[in-house]
Amino acid sequence: MSDTLKTHSRYWLETYGCQMNTAESNALEVALQAAGMQAALRAEDADCAILNTCSVRKTAENRIWGRIGFFQHLKQSHPMTLVVTGCMAERLGDEFLKDAPAVDHVMGTNDKQRIAALLTGGSDERDAAYSFTQSYYKDGDVKSYVPIMNGCDNFCAYCIVPYVRGREVSREPQSVYDEIHRLEDAGVREITLLGQNVNSYDYTWNGKHMRFPDLLSDIASQVSSIRWIRFESPHPKDFSKELIAVIAQEKAVAKHLHVPAQSGSTRILQLMNRKYTRETYLQLIGNLREAVDGITFTTDVMVGFPGETEDDFHQTLSLMREVRFLEAFMYYFNPREGTKAVSMPDQLSSEVRMARLQELINLQRSISHEEKVARCTGTVEVLVEQISKRNEHEYLSRSEHDEMVVFQPISPVRVGDFVDVELTGMVGSTFTATQH
Ligand code: SF4
Repeated sequence: MSDTLKTHSRYWLETYGCQMNTAESNALEVALQAAGMQAALRAEDADCAILNTCSVRKTAENRIWGRIGFFQHLKQSHPMTLVVTGCMAERLGDEFLKDAPAVDHVMGTNDKQRIAALLTGGSDERDAAYSFTQSYYKDGDVKSYVPIMNGCDNFCAYCIVPYVRGREVSREPQSVYDEIHRLEDAGVREITLLGQNVNSYDYTWNGKHMRFPDLLSDIASQVSSIRWIRFESPHPKDFSKELIAVIAQEKAVAKHLHVPAQSGSTRILQLMNRKYTRETYLQLIGNLREAVDGITFTTDVMVGFPGETEDDFHQTLSLMREVRFLEAFMYYFNPREGTKAVSMPDQLSSEVRMARLQELINLQRSISHEEKVARCTGTVEVLVEQISKRNEHEYLSRSEHDEMVVFQPISPVRVGDFVDVELTGMVGSTFTATQH
């Protein structure tokens, strides 16, 4: 089964799950290409396939099992190496090899840097460089992720991440700065600092204790053509006064934040082990609004956590009404083996969880729509991301508040430009605009 000595020339890479996986897949591609491999246009043309997997939800794992079935079938007529990496590989480990004979190699999240060596017969050392220290940028991108920390120490009761990603490790600041300078030189105009718990960044460097606000303000003072710095995902409990001050003071820090709420009920937040309350969450949003003019928010919300009563659920609905997020990622509790919530009492039926999710989605849809209609006025600055695939005379762009804007240029525009446009209407949730 093992073919470590066989070398490969064309790879097929599939990525599931969070932005961290996307960033790591980009880095992996850089390493594979540096080792002389090329991306195949179709899975059928590759001599190796890599699945960078996600374990956060059962549905993601089911999809990946489906893809493994596909590759098992493909391998009957088309010899290839199948590598499974990422969180699912970490969670299931060697069970994979037993249950899925089509899988040739299982590499945990911290072993990803060995994949290029494995596939090309190179040495591990050559590839180790990519893990936290090499550019995650792909040619032509105007936006890029920059991982700054990995892992999580929080153990929220429903979450598998601390078990599969391990404890928090922060990246050396100089390597972050160097990477951002490289990205800037390559034409990147917007970066997102990434980490499972990004605002608990902590690194002792040259005798100085660097926390996330220090790193963010250093980065903001160093960039010039990168105009928007984002970060994801912050934990509400680690959102310090210093961080609010940096967001308020530094023009380059985007005035739009994703702040996961998860629930509007303090009782459920405690059961979830989130370490903040409804009141402190709302206080944080209030403090940010007071300090940062025009700031907007998105969030993650879960319904149907074990023990969630109708009253708890209504507190979540009322939190959504109170904050008025521009968008929300909403989902229902899905028990993950290996987490504390699996064995908690008062598990809710799937009917109740689905009905609550639908009610939440309906509410948030109307809030998002009302917010967007209210915001559809005046001039906004947008970053041009690409030419529309539907109409080559139109450009797709995004605002500082991460809103999609489509417009027709009246003067020459290039991807990567910042352009002022006048909002004129909406198609679905996309703004239409005319160039100034
Ligand atoms: S903070 Fe909680 S939800 Fe986020 S990665 Fe850590 S354990 Fe998971």
